[in-house]
Amino acid sequence: MTTTLAPAAPSADDVLGTSAARTRSAVLERQILEDPGRFRILTGDRPTGRLHLGHYFGTLHNRVRLQDLGVELFVIVADYQVLTDRDVADRLTEHVEELVLDHLAIGVDPERSTVFTHSAVPALNQLLLPFLSLVSVAELNRNPTVKDEIAHSRQSAVSGLMFTYPVHQAADILFCKANLVPVGQDQLPHLEVTRTVARRFNDRYGSGTAVFPEPDALLSEAPLLLGTDGTKMSKSRGNSIALAAGADETARLIKGAKTDSERHIAYDPAGRPEVSSLLLLAALCQGRTPEEVADDIGSAGAAALKRTVTESVNEYLAPIRSRRAEYARDRAYVLRILREGNERARAVADATLAEVRAAMNSRY
Ligand code: ATP
Ligand code: MG
Repeated sequence: MTTTLAPAAPSADDVLGTSAARTRSAVLERQILEDPGRFRILTGDRPTGRLHLGHYFGTLHNRVRLQDLGVELFVIVADYQVLTDRDVADRLTEHVEELVLDHLAIGVDPERSTVFTHSAVPALNQLLLPFLSLVSVAELNRNPTVKDEIAHSRQSAVSGLMFTYPVHQAADILFCKANLVPVGQDQLPHLEVTRTVARRFNDRYGSGTAVFPEPDALLSEAPLLLGTDGTKMSKSRGNSIALAAGADETARLIKGAKTDSERHIAYDPAGRPEVSSLLLLAALCQGRTPEEVADDIGSAGAAALKRTVTESVNEYLAPIRSRRAEYARDRAYVLRILREGNERARAVADATLAEVRAAMNSRY
């Protein structure tokens, strides 16, 4: 007789599957170094505002690093998905252009990488229909990230677009058969839905071959950077420090960040999340460990910690900010990058949709 061990209760960290994703990310990092050509990345953001430090250390830095290692990169500006949690997409054109500027400023190279908008690629969106048939309502109901996004939504009722958000994201990722998705921790449950969709499509329609890869999440060292109020830094929550913010604005925002009353500064993410997130931010900017930064500050208290964070962030972002300002002077160039990216994405999406229709016997 075998004994079954009761599974350990998942830690708070594990509700989203973060520990497993961290372990898997370490394996992926080794494989990427061995053969970057094996990987294709799809990743992106909603055009709801300027990108911030949470984006940068959660995913943007990885996008550029992997692009420079030779991994093919697709960046989606997810304009339809703005409407998951609000009635109207305010200042959409402006926000779309801001996202492209942010990517150019951090080093995304449009010669090698494709930046495109959701709404310009019809074949991508058409994949949503067969994909919706592959998941149950109960599965969508369970998604913890959708629950969190609903909790922060500006709408009083949950729209169908919010409810099906992860399936739409499966279409975003699978249209170009990406196998690697550098994301923050909040995206892990969404990525699980993509993996499920890919697996079920292959089982149901693949006739023994895999039409779609089952993509992996790639987590960074900062999969959940906190904002100035101590919750996930988020463009829509008024708690973020934008990459494009000025040095003085950055100082003011960090000065107002939530900390705790203990004078001695130590890195303890579980016990002191706000202080630890600030330490991690300074450490990432300085290329050191958060423990080292904490040792420097010792008992000098939160004000000294904030001064260090402000200096580190402003120094780190200075070249990114000046490149961004240069690109911002050439709006025609920004629009051209998008137009060319849209064209490339359309060709890829058309080819994938043709394959999907063949697999589903709907070629007439
Ligand atoms: P919104 O509030 O409009 O949803 P957001 O700030 O949550 O905006 P998204 O466009 O939803 O940003 O997320 C884009 C990418 O950035 C995702 O991969 C997400 O995981 C990552 N990301 C966003 N915020 C953080 C954060 N605070 N820490 C780490 N990664 C983050
Ligand atoms: Mg979000």
